[in-house]
Parts: sequence; C-alpha cells; structure tokens
Amino acid sequence: MAVLEIVRMGHPVLRAPAAPVPASAMRGAAFARLVDDMVETMRAEGGVGLAAPQVGIGWRLFVLEVSGPGPEAIPLRVVVNPELTPEPGEPVEDWEGCLSIPDLRGLVPRHHAVRVRALDRHGAPSEYRVEGFEARIVQHENDHLDGVLFLDRMRDLRSLAFYDEWHRYVLGSAGSRAERPE
Ligand SMILES: [Zn+2]
Repeated sequence: MAVLEIVRMGHPVLRAPAAPVPASAMRGAAFARLVDDMVETMRAEGGVGLAAPQVGIGWRLFVLEVSGPGPEAIPLRVVVNPELTPEPGEPVEDWEGCLSIPDLRGLVPRHHAVRVRALDRHGAPSEYRVEGFEARIVQHENDHLDGVLFLDRMRDLRSLAFYDEWHRYVLGSAGSRAERPE
C-alpha cells in the first residue's frame, strides 16, 4: 500500500464532476489497490474521510472511518457510486475541515440523516441510513464527487478560521470532531 498525494483547492479535479466507477474496473486489482491506498492515505493524514478526486482520480468513490475508542467511532466504509436521499428536517450546522483545504475550519449546514444507496468495494449493492457525524462525513465526501467543496456550502464565511485560531478562540479546551479533516 502507499500514501497518495492529496490535491489541494485550485486543482481542477476538485471542481469536476466525477464519473461512476465502471463495473469492469471494480473487478480489477488496480481498483482494489486504489481503495487500499485511499484508506492508508486517509489514516496517514489523520482524516475521517477521503474522496477519489482528492487523490486526483475522477471516480465516484470515497472512504470514511473514525477510529476508536470513543462513542463517535465509525467503522471503515468504502462507498462506490453513491446516491444520497436526505431525510426531511432542519439542517444542522457544525464544524468541518478538508484535507484539500488544509488548516481551515468553517461552520457548514448538513442534513441530520441521509439514506445511502451505493456499492461496496466488491461491487455489491447496499443501502443504509446514516445520521449525525457520519451523515456529515458522507455529505462532505459525496460533494467532492460533484466538484463541491465545504466552503461552497457555508451560509456565512465569517466563521472561517485557521486551525490554530479556531482551536484557541472557538474550541477552547473542549475536543471536537472537526479536529480531523475530511
Ligand atoms: Zn474534503
């Protein structure tokens, strides 16, 4: 496995809609290697999610994981060609960061819960509901597949802060999930 280079805001791949992963590609060793490398890259960079365009690949694929221990631990998910259906309800604002926009944090409204129809890494269809922090990660990563960055979703850019200042003036001593970017 290998840690891949993460592209940063300004690279055109982050603004281009990604293409569905072809079924033929999913059967190949190269796809399995890409998934493994994305997982390793996410872990190496201390992120909770990583989408294929962030490593320069224009495919509809992302991985997410919140390592434990802790109540917010989320097992590794590999999400291929997803379709999201938000559940009705008021959007919830919380802090987000992004591995492709290093060092910034901002308040982003997201749906509290979404239904996901997707393929797993072996091409098997699956359908599940995610809520809370996992729903936030899924929406953030799915946006990457459409060329959308979290800055585009912010209602008010005045909450934008560099990590050190955010940690000092916004977070105080309490921990936050936004310690780790997506
Ligand atoms: Zn991101």
